[in-house]
Amino acid sequence: MRASRILDGFSQIATLAEGLLPRVGPAMRELGLLEEASVAIDQGRVVAIGPQRRLRREVRLRSGGRTESMEGRCAVPGFVDAHTHALFAGDRHGELPLKLSGASYREITEQGGGLLSTVRATRDATDVQLLRESAGRLRRMLANGTVAAEVKSGYALTHKGELRLLRLIPRLSRAIGFPLVPTYLGAHAIPPEQTDTPERYVEEMIVRTLPEVARKRLAQFCDAFLEPGFFTREQCERLLEAARSLGLGTKLHADEFEESGGASLAAQLGSRSADHLLASTSRGWSDLARAKTAAVLLPATALVSFSSRRPPGRELVDANVPVALGTDCSPNSWVESMPLVTSLAVYLARLTPAEAICAATSNAAYAIGLEATAGQISVGREADLAVFDVSAVEEIPYRFGVNPVQVYRRGAPVLSTTLRE
Ligand code: ZN
Repeated sequence: MRASRILDGFSQIATLAEGLLPRVGPAMRELGLLEEASVAIDQGRVVAIGPQRRLRREVRLRSGGRTESMEGRCAVPGFVDAHTHALFAGDRHGELPLKLSGASYREITEQGGGLLSTVRATRDATDVQLLRESAGRLRRMLANGTVAAEVKSGYALTHKGELRLLRLIPRLSRAIGFPLVPTYLGAHAIPPEQTDTPERYVEEMIVRTLPEVARKRLAQFCDAFLEPGFFTREQCERLLEAARSLGLGTKLHADEFEESGGASLAAQLGSRSADHLLASTSRGWSDLARAKTAAVLLPATALVSFSSRRPPGRELVDANVPVALGTDCSPNSWVESMPLVTSLAVYLARLTPAEAICAATSNAAYAIGLEATAGQISVGREADLAVFDVSAVEEIPYRFGVNPVQVYRRGAPVLSTTLRE
């Protein structure tokens, strides 16, 4: 067997290669660990993985190929970020003092700040500006080990504007060199022009925007924000039913501020995920488990929102819900690091370190429909790995704020060597 690159002698590799998808319950703690192991890569794909001694015997390096020593290091599959709003213009650092003084997300939005100020900035931005700002964020995510992500629209809130955002996502993906799963989130908030006529906006999404999104294949999922002051359960149900009948997958921002029956609605609709879930209850959890709807937890958002609630990670795993993680990267919670999110998942949501790694890789891939291509290290798959200077993979969540020393995307290193030496 021949390889162009051999990553030789990791202390530990979490392959997440065996077992059923999605992983639930105790299976979330089975990471498919290999010790003293190597990975051989050719043409961007893994061609062999296993004990260092066996690979040294079986794999021959192509001329011009290289072997890199991974002694004392660990690898996990490149992270999958299952929930982002990474396509936007501007920033909102100026709002932090307001948040610190106790203003809620909803209050800031009602004062024309928050989400609506990002809507203004995004509507005013040119394509070039949006691509440049968003590509910067996504490249930093890649440097932190993320090799696939979901990106939502939702900062235009007009028919044309939302279509423009969705059309930019494949261009963004080409610019940064890793897959982005586009989600239509026209139902992110009621547009400022239509606060008196929310029904008309919902109707426009259903009869005009969604059919065009589906026909032009601009999104894989349709998502909606089910919360008091945003969209009602009935509106979300109608919208997501329409999306489903057009062949789109569905997702739901559910039970973040209040328990609104969001988790149960997502399960009832057969949605791929229900996201946030800070205020969800055991009834919603059992519905999610039955439907195999992923619970996407966003613990960084709970932290930056000064929420008194903790994400119910432990409870969801124990209820056999496939738990996944995302950054929720947005101007409200500007987080680009999935390793940091795994730490928050442990310390805030009470996942075990192994569960957090599973939730950030294998189950996150499931949550955005990429389970066939992302979230594991195995023969035949693209060689996407995050390498850390730790001796056990469980140290990644354990050590707060640890960064990869190298990230491989399709077998090629993405970090400059000056960072590592
Ligand atoms: Zn969100």
